[in-house]
Amino acid sequence: MKISLYGTRGSIPAPSRRNRPTHEFGGNTTCLLVEGASGRHFVVDGGSGIRLYGEDLLKANKAMFSPDKPLVALLTHVHWDHIQGIPFFTPIYFPKNSIVFYGNCNYVSSLNEALQNSEPKKITQFALEKQQGKFVFPVRFSDLQSNVTFGDNEDLREGLEIDGLTIRTRGVNHPEGCYSYMFLENGKKFVDLTDHEHEPQLSVIGPKDAKMMKWIEGADVLLQDAQYTPEEYDPEQAGKKGTKKVGWGHSVDEKVIRMAVDAGVKRLILTHHDPTHLDQFLLDRETVLREYLGLQLKEKGLPENAMSVEYAREDTSIEL
Ligand SMILES: [Zn+2]
Ligand SMILES: [Zn+2]
Repeated sequence: MKISLYGTRGSIPAPSRRNRPTHEFGGNTTCLLVEGASGRHFVVDGGSGIRLYGEDLLKANKAMFSPDKPLVALLTHVHWDHIQGIPFFTPIYFPKNSIVFYGNCNYVSSLNEALQNSEPKKITQFALEKQQGKFVFPVRFSDLQSNVTFGDNEDLREGLEIDGLTIRTRGVNHPEGCYSYMFLENGKKFVDLTDHEHEPQLSVIGPKDAKMMKWIEGADVLLQDAQYTPEEYDPEQAGKKGTKKVGWGHSVDEKVIRMAVDAGVKRLILTHHDPTHLDQFLLDRETVLREYLGLQLKEKGLPENAMSVEYAREDTSIEL
């Protein structure tokens, strides 16, 4: 299994500028590619990074997905930073291509939505159509040339088995919901856990945290949202003043590290970088977090190579 990071930024793209560099860790919003041993492609999320995935496919003459082997696009949820690149994913305009979208496909249920739509729609389809709706984008989603379909949530819940790779799914703690995807192949485990907030008490591992630790247990690679430092998340708990970000649906780096150590994760990659976190900030913070991890491992009597931690860097790949 190979994982390629096309977008690592959270909330909104943060393109690099001379006085605000972000090119070391990346400015594109969430998108990653998982390639199975069979060569099959699974793209997770369609943030602005998916545009570059499309370009790479074209460059390699690989932008062809037949109806029997469609591109599997797994959306964690439909917040804008996870779908905004889809109208710029060139292969979606090719008539011979087939793409199946999975994730967050609950039916639109509120009365207002039901009145506006004669047919109830899955949330994924609803959001992608709105994003390319009249007045806001020149091409309607329904006018895309490729064969776009929407997978069933029921199939996801049961787990997908595609060309030797197993995909499991569970809901995580995020406003309006979000999915985490687990990929299993040849005895290796990769978990993508973005847009998830642990329980708010930073010093305590709560019962919901414990459940999440079961999910990530023993992962060879865990790619997890860690948008905030403890002070940014809850200035009060850190004895400071500022805006609380409790309930915003994102995690704190130090707590993520502690949970990953206890869950026996081998390589932790922190992602969904805050748009205000420039390269220098992340480089400095990475050093601090490595020291923090070292202390955690020592305290627990674990060898210092039991786990590693790093920030996700756009345009890098991980082989498993
Ligand atoms: Zn997000
Ligand atoms: Zn979100």
